[in-house]
Amino acid sequence: MSSRLFLDFASTTPIHPLVLETMNEVLNDSPGNPSSVHNEGRKAKFIIEETREKVAQLLSLEPAEIIFTSGATESINTVLKSFFFQKFPEKANFFSSEVEHHATLHSLVFLKSKGANITYLPVDNLGDLLPFPHIHPNVFYSLLAVNNELGTILSPQIISDVKKANSYIHIDGVQALGKIDIQPYLNANYLSFSGHKIQGPRGIGLLVVRGGSELVPLLHGGSHERNRRAGTEDTAKIAGFGKALSIALESQPKNNAHVKMINHYLRGKISQLTHTIKINSPETGSPYILNFTYSQDKSENIDGEAMILALDGNGISISNGSACASGSFEPSHVLSAIGKTEYQAKSTLRVSFSAETTIEDIDRFIHVFERILNRMKLAHKII
Ligand code: PLP
Repeated sequence: MSSRLFLDFASTTPIHPLVLETMNEVLNDSPGNPSSVHNEGRKAKFIIEETREKVAQLLSLEPAEIIFTSGATESINTVLKSFFFQKFPEKANFFSSEVEHHATLHSLVFLKSKGANITYLPVDNLGDLLPFPHIHPNVFYSLLAVNNELGTILSPQIISDVKKANSYIHIDGVQALGKIDIQPYLNANYLSFSGHKIQGPRGIGLLVVRGGSELVPLLHGGSHERNRRAGTEDTAKIAGFGKALSIALESQPKNNAHVKMINHYLRGKISQLTHTIKINSPETGSPYILNFTYSQDKSENIDGEAMILALDGNGISISNGSACASGSFEPSHVLSAIGKTEYQAKSTLRVSFSAETTIEDIDRFIHVFERILNRMKLAHKII
């Protein structure tokens, strides 16, 4: 029996063996509470501060600019709610886009219900922001560096434009870290990152607060993280994040070249299929994500969820959009924003790669996918 084929690395990645080794060492050797003054506590605290310095050095930041959080969802919630608390009521003005991750969109919906003004910038059919309107002062922008469904890359030029206009910008850098050059985005006022997308553990992330940018904490209850994020730190996950980041950045050029080749190969294979398939990811996007719609017309009556389940039944794990969207059977908001009908959005797959993905994996996927699609189309004709 053949082993399973995982092509959903944008949803999460397996922990790197060296990260696991680092975490096991910390779990075994440093069980103290980092806030305790005794030996065990000081040892745990040392690991955290050492990791903070390492992460800062890897990203060309100051250690004080780094806050360890439970993941990007917490980082994003913190930064958006912080601006709201600073500016409410008359100046809580946010600009974001229609294709953000739910961590951003749902936070903004909540803030709107509390009185914030939200403007959603529209995008074109590849997920790129449409020509940018005038930037008002004192507005908070929150944008993705790399779209998690399409792979579309934000032009970092917007960061300096927003700052020049005396506004503020937060970048959701989750799908960018370790995959594309992150440096141009680090000029933003705030950035959010996640450990489990770079072969680190789940439940750990960063909130980067640049320079003297203000931050109102989301969590209160202690002076951890320089009074900006209360709660006992998870020493092992923090150390694991540091290790994962150094591995990801060191192997980035090699991995990127490999994944580009895999992405190109899959694009070629898709174009050879007899079915009409529309690739939704821009050629210039992140090579780690390839999103395509395999049935354009409702009359073909293909059941998108059945496709995911049939692939799964054949040992292949793939999403049809973000993990949340596929879990809730809702058509993805990102695909709606780029102009897909509800039917097309459901007839879409997001294949996402890792440095371990091989040409043979792609051949296997294409073979199984084509067989299922042929069968589904035939079954419809027979019915
Ligand atoms: N932002 C983007 C672009 C993501 O892809 C994800 C995870 O899917 C998140 C934010 C949330 O990250 P976390 O799982 O660390 O909360």
